[in-house]
Amino acid sequence: MTIRDELLKNIRRVDPYVPGEQPQDKVVKLNTNENPYPPSPAVKRALEELNTDSFRLYPDPASGVLIKALSDFHRLKEEQIFVGVGSDDVLSLCFLTFFNSDQPILFPDITYSFYKVWAQLYQIPYECPRLDSDFRIVKEDYYRVNGGVIFPNPNAPTAVYEDLGFVEDILEHNHDSIVIVDEAYVDFAGRSAVELIGRYDNLIVTRTFSKSRSMAGMRIGYALADESLICCLNDVKYSFNSYTMSQAALVCGAASVRDRVYFEENIRKITETREWVGKELKALGFIFPDSKANFIFAKHPDYDASQLFEELKSEGIYVRHWNDARIKDYLRITVGTDGEMRVLLQSLKKKLEK
Ligand code: PMP
Repeated sequence: MTIRDELLKNIRRVDPYVPGEQPQDKVVKLNTNENPYPPSPAVKRALEELNTDSFRLYPDPASGVLIKALSDFHRLKEEQIFVGVGSDDVLSLCFLTFFNSDQPILFPDITYSFYKVWAQLYQIPYECPRLDSDFRIVKEDYYRVNGGVIFPNPNAPTAVYEDLGFVEDILEHNHDSIVIVDEAYVDFAGRSAVELIGRYDNLIVTRTFSKSRSMAGMRIGYALADESLICCLNDVKYSFNSYTMSQAALVCGAASVRDRVYFEENIRKITETREWVGKELKALGFIFPDSKANFIFAKHPDYDASQLFEELKSEGIYVRHWNDARIKDYLRITVGTDGEMRVLLQSLKKKLEK
């Protein structure tokens, strides 16, 4: 594609985020951290009860039914909750709303690759402190003047989780900046920073229905924060698109949140499988940081990761690999069902025995 220079100079260009592949044929799909189990049966019922006549009308722009369910779940006020079309939508609006400084925002060098894309898209200056050699965030790197801070906890693609004391240390050193903790995977990990919201008016926690709630296809994410920040986020949202959440997403999302028993059982199954697969991978010689997410970020000392990636793919087993210098030796493997993981482990065993 060529565009004349005269036109190009006024066009906003970015290197886009590259999502994992979504093959349409039947494969063992361990490449985009989806949940292998269906959503709560309550979601199916909610969808069946949805009256399609109501599709004539715009959905509730305030997403009331979903926000009410989340407010009950998290024991926060409805004014402390913002919902969007997946956490990508929520995070992108957060970048636009809260990162508006001449100082660089800070996020780790190895992290969710979308952060860099949003920073470029919105022309936000940024710096990326290096993770240490164990893939841990060095919190002291965030103790300096900045235009905002964002990191996932657990981090992606490393799956490394830091405890609440660590998150609080970063907050304590950043009273005058917005700190966003992206908790896409926290349900598989441990305590959430949500409990710090009452004490830090600069903290935003983002969450998604795509992982622990098995609803990636419905596109639901949300942010939790002091109501003054949620108000700013709503002002930007209403300046963009009032009706982000479809009626189906609103009722299905609310049904999922109300079914706490199913949610907890789903998480238990994934974490049990993760622990078992971790042991098996270690026995095969793989090396990886302790995973607290629904994926494992592993390398093998005797096997080239990009070759392994291609070989697995040719067998219909999809995992994720990046050609980035610091992580090119690693594969990110989503935790699937026990059956899917058995297929993966058998294939790996065969290759490594050769
Ligand atoms: N944050 C992190 C760290 C992620 O890995 C993902 C998943 N790609 C997201 C946010 C976005 O998830 P979603 O838009 O499906 O809510």
